[in-house]
Amino acid sequence: MSRQAFFFDMDGTIFDSMPNHALAWEQVVSQHGLTFTRQDCFRQEGRTGIDVLEQLFLQKQAKGEPTEIDGLSPQQTMEHIKNIYAEKSRLFHSMGDTMPINGVTELLTFLHNKGNIDIWIVTGSAQQTLFDKLNTFFPNIFAPERMVTANDVIHGKPKPEPYLKAWERSGLDKKQCFVVENAPLGIMSGKAAGLYTYAVNTGPLTDNDLRQAGADMVVPDMTTLLHILEQTLIPL
Ligand code: CA
Repeated sequence: MSRQAFFFDMDGTIFDSMPNHALAWEQVVSQHGLTFTRQDCFRQEGRTGIDVLEQLFLQKQAKGEPTEIDGLSPQQTMEHIKNIYAEKSRLFHSMGDTMPINGVTELLTFLHNKGNIDIWIVTGSAQQTLFDKLNTFFPNIFAPERMVTANDVIHGKPKPEPYLKAWERSGLDKKQCFVVENAPLGIMSGKAAGLYTYAVNTGPLTDNDLRQAGADMVVPDMTTLLHILEQTLIPL
């Protein structure tokens, strides 16, 4: 029996967390003189929070505008950025638990029940309680050893490192591994790692945005992906 692996992104793919993330980002960065709209959030989705903040400050400095990091050493800058990210995380968590994306429970159950498929999480998130949350909503589907988080990589999405790491640890051929993503940078990461990448368009971007990022197939929702996989996955 040939094994396969599915590498799932988390925010916007497993959990319907993007609206709250966008709101939290928008509020917190505005208190630090930065602008990050809801649309920006979806376009930048997949980058680590630290990367996002670094870029926002650099962009503002490039325009010649004053910022909170002017005159700070690289170390102080990183500390300041980490504090802002912690503020954003606190606000996000105070908004309460986000629920699974429609249809993802059925899709994960289908893959799990096939018996020859390893289900992974590959995320730019660094939440400490991630596994507990996954296990609460999807009992016995995920395992800590099948997770790649922001803590495991140096260069996050859109770089290939997160998906390459999952692939290396899976011990499988690349053609036995599949990525499920919802956002352009995540799709770029999956494709840069040389993996077949499904895009599920759960957000406000167009299908074309996801296709241009390199997705091998774009579907409107998890139920459609389930139906496709029911037809195409090698039966046991
Ligand atoms: Ca995502």
